[in-house]
Amino acid sequence: MNGAGTADPVGGAATPPDAPTWRRDDAFSYQCRACGRCCHHKRIPLGPYDILRLARHLGLKTGEFLRRHVERDGPWLSATPDGACMFLDAGRCAVHADRPLACRVYPLGRWVTASGEETFRELRPHPQTEGRYGRDGTVAQYLERQGVAPYVAAADRLQALFYRLLDALQGVLPRRPELRAAAEAALLIPADSDGPPGFMEWLDADGVVARYCVDMGRAVPETVEAVLQAYIEAIDTWLKTTGGEAA
Ligand code: SF4
Repeated sequence: MNGAGTADPVGGAATPPDAPTWRRDDAFSYQCRACGRCCHHKRIPLGPYDILRLARHLGLKTGEFLRRHVERDGPWLSATPDGACMFLDAGRCAVHADRPLACRVYPLGRWVTASGEETFRELRPHPQTEGRYGRDGTVAQYLERQGVAPYVAAADRLQALFYRLLDALQGVLPRRPELRAAAEAALLIPADSDGPPGFMEWLDADGVVARYCVDMGRAVPETVEAVLQAYIEAIDTWLKTTGGEAA
């Protein structure tokens, strides 16, 4: 999701008010010097694709990953008591090959409007960062080096679903006020609960896909891309049948 459409793509690294807005062909370069400082005191937002990639990196199903590694008031990547990302290991990212979109785009934030317009802005840097900022390339070249393409493709597909979900709820809730209370109850995460309840269940792509495949009499897919595809199909089906779009 990369915080698309939000004011703060990486919590704790808000965009300065005077930060210019860039597009992919604008001049930008950044060289990470692996000082590790930028991996402290941030809230790293996670979308379903981030969670799938990270879970597979660790050999986990997404439900187990959510229980172990995601802050329940987020979804944010968990941090250690001293504010370091839990995957920062001796100054290096222990999940580098499957790090989340927000970490790949950093030190930029990415915004996408409902109509699909994409912009980027520089986030406020850590005051002692050793990263080198420059203008030796373009935003597009920087993003390509960070391997964002599958993340952006997934985030954009999922954002489109999110807007449909929002539309469905806005259409249904005025007619079904009792659903508002049920939705609020589902979204509130009980502090004393061990599992990932409420909307966290929707982030559990493996769980959503497993239930969908049982309903459809299909084999449960294994690979990240196949799970993502089935996950999108599952939500699309839910929206068309019980989510309000057919009402
Ligand atoms: S996932 Fe990796 S790059 Fe992202 S904050 Fe954690 S250690 Fe840093």
